[in-house]
Amino acid sequence: MDDLRSNDPEGVIAADKAHVWHHLIQHKPFETIDPRIIVEGKGMRVWDIRGREYLDAVSGGVWTVNVGYGRERIADAVRDQLVKMCYFAGASGTVAGAEFAERLISKMPGLSRVYYANSGSEANEKAFKMVRAISHKHHGGKKGKILYRDRDYHGTTIGALSAGGQQERNARFGPFAPGFIEVPHCLEYQAQPELAGPDYGVKAAEAIEAVILREGPDEIGALCLEPVTAGGGCIVPPTGYWEKVQEICRKYDILLHIDEVVCGLGRTGTWFGYQQFGVEPDIVTMAKGVASGYAAISTCVTTEAVFDAFKDADDPLGHFRDISTFGGCASGPVAALENMKIIEEEGLCENSAAMGEYLLEGFRKLEAKHEAIGEVRGLGLFAGIELVESRESRKPLTEKLVGRVQAEALADDVMIGAANRSVPGYNNVLLFAPALIATRDDIDRIV
Ligand code: PLP
Repeated sequence: MDDLRSNDPEGVIAADKAHVWHHLIQHKPFETIDPRIIVEGKGMRVWDIRGREYLDAVSGGVWTVNVGYGRERIADAVRDQLVKMCYFAGASGTVAGAEFAERLISKMPGLSRVYYANSGSEANEKAFKMVRAISHKHHGGKKGKILYRDRDYHGTTIGALSAGGQQERNARFGPFAPGFIEVPHCLEYQAQPELAGPDYGVKAAEAIEAVILREGPDEIGALCLEPVTAGGGCIVPPTGYWEKVQEICRKYDILLHIDEVVCGLGRTGTWFGYQQFGVEPDIVTMAKGVASGYAAISTCVTTEAVFDAFKDADDPLGHFRDISTFGGCASGPVAALENMKIIEEEGLCENSAAMGEYLLEGFRKLEAKHEAIGEVRGLGLFAGIELVESRESRKPLTEKLVGRVQAEALADDVMIGAANRSVPGYNNVLLFAPALIATRDDIDRIV
């Protein structure tokens, strides 16, 4: 077969059209238009195979390339590691695995154990399995139910979709796993009017408590939440929410599992999103920004207490009977280690916080001018613009119009995102997650 990597854009596009089944999209339009093949990236910019340049305001489409493209030091570290020792799993560890775990834990007071996997979905599955195993081992099968929130997303596998609060993503994939219970979201802008007000955060958390009481607290093992709901429409938790959530979890002895797959590694302006709300989770999962897309790695990080629940040499099923084959790839932790060093040395958490503020300022100026902007939300370099028919009605703009805004940005060579369709009407939020290296000039262009 001819070498498709040679200078043959049309050949590559034809091969893609003929054989690649792309994620997330409807393929029918590819009968008349070509897929975009991205061939190069540097910083915040990418180039397609026909030489067109884009400003990437979505970090690789799904908020992953936190440190930006073209980081030679990550590539070098991965290459050196692969040549020396590419892989080992099970009881045998790797130097990179130990070093990255130690560095990661140094940023996560209260947590101490790192379980390696490959994707956000898988990391969340690990957490769910831990909760279920603890339920069987220590609670006689009680405390096995897992709460998740409307509009949150925790992954694409059937288990993770069972904890999925975005209806469109779940449609046609059921039946799902039993024992996952939905609780309400915390988006004041679209909340029932009688709940809105200065104590909305506490009321939204109390709505979770009401579900716990309805199900029976001794049935609930864990509550799984995104710190800032990402794909569900950039929902920044209201004041008082997390404090109350933590209090409720402690009161009913419920493990708090925070899904940092998007927010982790600086995205919201601190190492982890939950650290801005003063909460102390029992389990934290992360993926995308862990190695910024330079390698496939995710982790499920726990307290020593969760880890200890699996220590019983006399019980043949007492350990965590789970594996991730590619959790043994040394390329993951070695890329993650370099990624963390870059974030630290270049002050990217701080830049994310500062540029995030600047981005929101820019959007708020737009908000003043456009009736279609219902609300601007964000934390660090994750921001959303909720588009509505009018401020009065707060009725979401249709998906088609949101798509048009995205298309117009793209025509201007800027890639922006949109929330995932949930219950009809929830797909009206434009999403922005540029790399954490963004400058004021980049932000000005995005705005
Ligand atoms: N959790 C959250 C909050 C996500 O946004 C995603 C993906 O977008 C996932 C989990 C699933 O991650 P992955 O696609 O790596 O399985």
